[in-house]
Amino acid sequence: MFRWLSGRGAARRDIERTAASIPPEAWARTLDSYPFLRRLTAEDSAALRQRTAWLLASKSFVGAAGLTLTDEILLSIAVQAALPVLALDPELYAGWREIIVYPGGFRIPRQDTDEDGVVHEYVQDAAGEAWEGGPVILSWEDARTAGHMNVVIHEFAHKLDLHGGPADGQPDLSQHRIAPGRWRAVLEDSYDRFCTALDAVERDIPADMDPESPDADAWYGQLPLDPYAASDEAEFFAVSSETFFVDPQPLAEALPEWFDLLRAYYRQDPLPPSALP
Ligand SMILES: [Zn+2]
Repeated sequence: MFRWLSGRGAARRDIERTAASIPPEAWARTLDSYPFLRRLTAEDSAALRQRTAWLLASKSFVGAAGLTLTDEILLSIAVQAALPVLALDPELYAGWREIIVYPGGFRIPRQDTDEDGVVHEYVQDAAGEAWEGGPVILSWEDARTAGHMNVVIHEFAHKLDLHGGPADGQPDLSQHRIAPGRWRAVLEDSYDRFCTALDAVERDIPADMDPESPDADAWYGQLPLDPYAASDEAEFFAVSSETFFVDPQPLAEALPEWFDLLRAYYRQDPLPPSALP
């Protein structure tokens, strides 16, 4: 086991020791297992290793439901969580400590009160969750796979959104030259355009087809983002963030102004220069 399980703070010495304790083969294997990390230059990769070490030294990883945390699990989650803050101040992830990892999806008890004042209790299946001021909770089964969605980046984008304000799709912009009013305007316009596009796709799905079935994927696949992005502005930012890093081209083409804003916020460009819209 690497020496980063302590999670006892992120003194420079701890970060350096942690970075040095990542075996080069394990690092190369991890980068190779996520296609969106293969685009990184050698310089970016070295910086990502430092950010990954910062995360491992700063946060406590906890295995839940009998999961034993292995080096592969720790490194895979930390490297994905480090990517959004590769060019940002990692203190944007401060104010909470634990990353709780379940072997697979987990269940969250929920309670809602409807407009008649009736309380409904139910259980929601989840692959990830980010608590305000509390832990990030992840399913390893979902975090390990490299699909066009990314639960780790999604939940850490929620953490960026929650830093210094409510979960409303607007992260702390105090270290950026982006006017908050401009962020809000582009966010709302892009969110509305996405919801309109989703409505149009849902109208096109044949009436005899179950929209929840895999057959409907061909319709939803026309969208630049997973339909879950239409839930609210906070989910729109989180889904946009995972897509920005993992599958950027359709998002850049469909919502170029929003894509430009994400590029300015993350200070990264996931597209090769020739692919820019
Ligand atoms: Zn979310």
